[in-house]
Amino acid sequence: KNQAKLNIATVGYGGMGTYHVHGLIPAESDYLQVVGTYDIDMDRKEVAEETGTYVYPSFEAILDDQEVDAILIATPNDSHKDLAIRSMQAGKHVICEKPVAMNTQEFDEMLAVAKETGQVLMVHQNRRWDPDFLQVKEIFDQRQAIGDVFQIESRVHGANGIPGDWRHLKAHGGGMVLDWGIHLFDQLLWLVDSPIKSVNADLSYILGDEVDDGFMAYITFENGIRALVEVGTSNFVSLPRWYIKGNQGTAIIEDWEMNGRIVKVTGNAVENKPSPIRAGVGLTKTMAPPVDGVTETLPLPEIQTVDTSFYKNFYDVVVHGAEPIVKNEQVRQVMQLIDSILK
Ligand code: NAD
Repeated sequence: KNQAKLNIATVGYGGMGTYHVHGLIPAESDYLQVVGTYDIDMDRKEVAEETGTYVYPSFEAILDDQEVDAILIATPNDSHKDLAIRSMQAGKHVICEKPVAMNTQEFDEMLAVAKETGQVLMVHQNRRWDPDFLQVKEIFDQRQAIGDVFQIESRVHGANGIPGDWRHLKAHGGGMVLDWGIHLFDQLLWLVDSPIKSVNADLSYILGDEVDDGFMAYITFENGIRALVEVGTSNFVSLPRWYIKGNQGTAIIEDWEMNGRIVKVTGNAVENKPSPIRAGVGLTKTMAPPVDGVTETLPLPEIQTVDTSFYKNFYDVVVHGAEPIVKNEQVRQVMQLIDSILK
């Protein structure tokens, strides 16, 4: 199909649906346009109408609308599979919010329908475009910043518990492994191109919900790289977003504004014999700061600009048969990792 713009209808006009309709898709107006939305909730329909968005009377009405090229699914996680399958069977392409499904088995059913129908199914793993992550990718790929990376710590800490309603419930695919874990694992597996060797995870239930309100996962890769991934929702003091160790230095990225620094090795810390310092009531050479001239502190490197957005890529995949950036086999690997963590 060769046309100037793809017509998109969204299902779910909640937090993320609204952001797609009024923020993300209008920003890509050269390629995409919103033709309408549908939400099961009367109140949300009214809000959509008030903002001038066309509201379809039913999900079936979207499926029947010949003008709709693609359906964007932004509903709770347990509804993604059925909505996506019905969309593709009706001849629509699909952008599905993360997590694409509740588990790998559900995703496999979706993939089978994508194959059968030839429709495009792409998952909105938008955090691959996060500037802080692109910074990490730059440090990781370029190697000159801190040498070969051997350890990655990726964290998000909040103090607001789990917001909203369905995110507290197992049946809707609530919990932080599925909500935030999916983003952090997607970033990690895209970064480290090596099979996973082992996974250890511990989920937290501080809030007393039936779903996890956070977790710590320790992942080792075949190539020797280790990663600690942590999500917390009862953290009144936050640890840095990223802490990365390489054989030539250490990088820290504090937050999404990318405050941070690199401390790079410029000499031989051991040969320069640090003097012992008093630490607490003890004495230590091991934990003494490196002597002057052995390290230098540098700003974080410039990030390479990414010329293709998620949406432009979706357009190119649909219209020009381009290669998707968020590939379904990658999404499937992340889903499998999540299956094993939840198990
Ligand atoms: P939300 O509760 O704010 O909105 C969900 C909306 O879907 C509600 O208005 C609800 O009435 C509607 N809905 C539920 N079932 C429906 C159905 N069968 N048909 C039509 N509408 C239905 O939730 P949210 O925070 O917007 O999350 C929605 C999805 O977006 C989730 O999968 C979530 O993980 C994802 N999300 C992604 C990001 C991201 O950065 N990629 C951020 C937030 C949420």
